[in-house]
Amino acid sequence: MKFGISQKIKFGSDEGSYSIVTEREHFDSQITATDSEAELLLNFFGRENINIGNVASDKAKSGKNFKLSPQGKSITLNLVFPKPNKTELRLYLSSTAGFKPEPNFVWFMFIKNGDLWIGSMPEADWRNENSIIIYDESEEIYQDSLAELDEIKITNLKARDVFARDRNLAIKRIQLEKYTCEYDPSHNLFDSRHTKLPYLEAHHLIPISLQKEIVQKLDVIENIFSLCPFCHRAIHHANIDLTRKIINRLVDKRPQVTGIINLQIVDFYRLYSVEDIC
Ligand SMILES: [Zn+2]
Ligand SMILES: [Zn+2]
Repeated sequence: MKFGISQKIKFGSDEGSYSIVTEREHFDSQITATDSEAELLLNFFGRENINIGNVASDKAKSGKNFKLSPQGKSITLNLVFPKPNKTELRLYLSSTAGFKPEPNFVWFMFIKNGDLWIGSMPEADWRNENSIIIYDESEEIYQDSLAELDEIKITNLKARDVFARDRNLAIKRIQLEKYTCEYDPSHNLFDSRHTKLPYLEAHHLIPISLQKEIVQKLDVIENIFSLCPFCHRAIHHANIDLTRKIINRLVDKRPQVTGIINLQIVDFYRLYSVEDIC
């Protein structure tokens, strides 16, 4: 699948593609490039520069240069159209050449500074490294500020919030939701020590850490959801199924959130790195 916002941030390129290496591909030491992979390879090397037939028929034309991610070592891999009708584009994997990903690894390619980079990593690492949400360093500070009444403490907390979120917006959202969890209003809550009101947290469904990448404002009421501490922890840390379930519920509840930067549900999954990698 094509690179999304997360990959653009991680690799500094939006011309890229990633998918899972199957057992079969690993065993056969070859990958049939599909959709965005084929598009990327053909755009980069030029359709007319790809050898038709087996590698031995034109070794020089079959060998293509890649940069191996992340070190940047130059490697040569064979890329051919095995059949004259050019319907299939085949990339050969080779440990000798330096690229032979394990089964179920994510393999990826992207264009950067005129080079075509290629690499692979375990799926869990890929998901971890491509999740935008984990970089929200001042989460605690922001949540603390919502449950605080002392003006001096609030000012101090606000000064330490690297995203300078407006706590009044979050409080307004929580009030609009009548002090309930937006995932499930029946969720149990405790009262805050300072405000004496039910304790809720504010979550930006389009992660606020994305703000540095885009011009549209993310600290807006449509993007802020009132969540109980359990659901809030869950959307940040839960397994793929529960994270998707919470995202689905929140988007269903407030579809306007999709309009802020025009995201489909799968784009939300990708921001949280819980998409199906195909
Ligand atoms: Zn959050
Ligand atoms: Zn909840």
